[in-house]
Amino acid sequence: MNNFVFEPAAPASLAIDNEVVRFPLRRIFCVGRNYAAHAREMGKDPDREAPFFFTKPADAVVDTGSAIPYPPETRDFHYEIELVVAIGRDGSDIPAAAALDHVWGYGVGIDLTRRDLQLEARDKGRPWDWGKAFDLSAPCAPLRPVATVGHPDSGRIWLAVNGKVRQSADLSELIWNVPEIISILSRSMSLKRGDIIMTGTPAGVGAIVAGDKVTGGIDGLGEIAIDIVAGPSAGRRARSAA
Ligand code: MN
Repeated sequence: MNNFVFEPAAPASLAIDNEVVRFPLRRIFCVGRNYAAHAREMGKDPDREAPFFFTKPADAVVDTGSAIPYPPETRDFHYEIELVVAIGRDGSDIPAAAALDHVWGYGVGIDLTRRDLQLEARDKGRPWDWGKAFDLSAPCAPLRPVATVGHPDSGRIWLAVNGKVRQSADLSELIWNVPEIISILSRSMSLKRGDIIMTGTPAGVGAIVAGDKVTGGIDGLGEIAIDIVAGPSAGRRARSAA
């Protein structure tokens, strides 16, 4: 501990299903608009143009079962259920045909979003970080290794708020599939073990407030549950017509 002016924070990590050991996290990459119906609900054309990415800090991850305070500076706090891909082998310029060799496992995550801040940034040509990369913005269920679950390319992905289903789609509807995402991402960034990729959300996104219980899952990959609790700005419902 002599090389640091203070003790470094414990590395961010993600739970692994049925294991005591955890998956150490490096980076969180997120794919924007990767289901056609969600692109349309965000007012965008779901043409198959090149995918785009944004990131969250690794310490935005929180385990399933957590209580998440309604975040500050927003009046439109949204859920987005997503397939999580965990990278277990380093690589860059990875061909799609070899991409799955770099996957350690899969999981279920929620890309929590301050939608009002994201859309303001989008419309003004500013970075998305304040809308996407805030504290506790990436709750994730325990990962499941490829050895157990293989490489799922279909299966129901869903999310419910207080037991009412709000998102329901199938992994086969991804515009860019997992091998393509890994290949394209690895042309721009070196992927390293410990990276995870949140692969985009299907249609049905919406607002949540303090007191809401959010559950979700993907066939074969388990389920996630979080509770939204009152935070610094209380989390009062302030949504518009939607
Ligand atoms: Mn998302």
